[in-house]
Amino acid sequence: MSGSELAYKRVLLKISGESFCREGESGIAMAELSSISEQIKQVVEVGVQLAIVCGGGNILRGKQFAEASDTIIPSTAHYMGMLGTVINALALQDALESVGVATRVQSAIRMEGVAETFIRRRCIRHLEKGRVVILAAGTGSPFVTTDTAAALRAREIDADIVLKGTKVDGVYSDDPMKNPHAVRYTEISYKDVIAQNLQVMDAQAFHHCMEQKLPIIVFNYKKVGNILRAVTGDTIGTRVSAEGKAGA
Ligand code: UDP
Repeated sequence: MSGSELAYKRVLLKISGESFCREGESGIAMAELSSISEQIKQVVEVGVQLAIVCGGGNILRGKQFAEASDTIIPSTAHYMGMLGTVINALALQDALESVGVATRVQSAIRMEGVAETFIRRRCIRHLEKGRVVILAAGTGSPFVTTDTAAALRAREIDADIVLKGTKVDGVYSDDPMKNPHAVRYTEISYKDVIAQNLQVMDAQAFHHCMEQKLPIIVFNYKKVGNILRAVTGDTIGTRVSAEGKAGA
């Protein structure tokens, strides 16, 4: 597939910490890591420039951890969460390289010896050379999530789209687990997401995308091949954009 046939040339993929572990578990499961790496490899092979923001929820979420502890103060807990994303990034790096995908890890928190520091221009240069850039440590600041990091980095590197991989098939009119009549939207506008109070990304992340008119595709990345389908423009999941019309 040539660059001109791709729906999106530069893509920011957000994968949550859950991508690294088995359903309901925590930590890193090799089978999950290898499955996500194979999917990413397919995307790189068609010539997409790919930056990945890793979540860290499989290791630690700052807010929950601080709430459950009398000792750890919230900002420390959030920094611990950010370090969790670095652990995932390093695992993903080796898994990708083991299947022949060239990578760089760039961290928002300086840690020479482990990863490069995120530098916008250097990140873009890696992408242009066909390397997958794994962006670790979120934004480098506490009290936000890696969704916000994904939206910010997507803006910075001029990504054409944010792909938000989730466990569900897209954005629904209501919680499909609770309401059997809930319908999945294939396209929806930012305005309608707000009007209907739908969950796409966290609020800050969503507003960054909306401000930049940066489309978001929410899709189920656990189905093998879906990441490739999303980047090649197949109708998949829910596409959120300025013009998107609400339609199931
Ligand atoms: N985090 C943070 N700043 C950031 C990104 C993440 O403080 O810019 C912390 C936060 O505590 C968060 C944790 O890192 O709970 C793990 O990230 P996240 O919850 O977004 O992971 P995911 O839900 O995607 O697995």
